[in-house]
Amino acid sequence: MSVQALRSSFGSNCHWCGLPMDFEEPRDKPDSATIEHLFDATLGGVRKPKYRRLAHAICNHTRNEFRLQAQRQFEQWIAQRQTSGKP
Ligand SMILES: [Zn+2]
Repeated sequence: MSVQALRSSFGSNCHWCGLPMDFEEPRDKPDSATIEHLFDATLGGVRKPKYRRLAHAICNHTRNEFRLQAQRQFEQWIAQRQTSGKP
């Protein structure tokens, strides 16, 4: 499913912030429309077209950054828990 197909299904606004996206080529600007995969293969989900939405490049990128941060913080917390839990 292409950007244009998603645009005609879901409109021209970002899935996350709801603001209008830039559809001009090349799509390498922060406000450019990018395809957002709501269920990532890395999280055990399956990549299906129905889970695709359009989002700003910057919103897509920032969401990924926060998710990586959260994952790292969780891993640190687990490591601390394991260290303090040793008999
Ligand atoms: Zn956005």
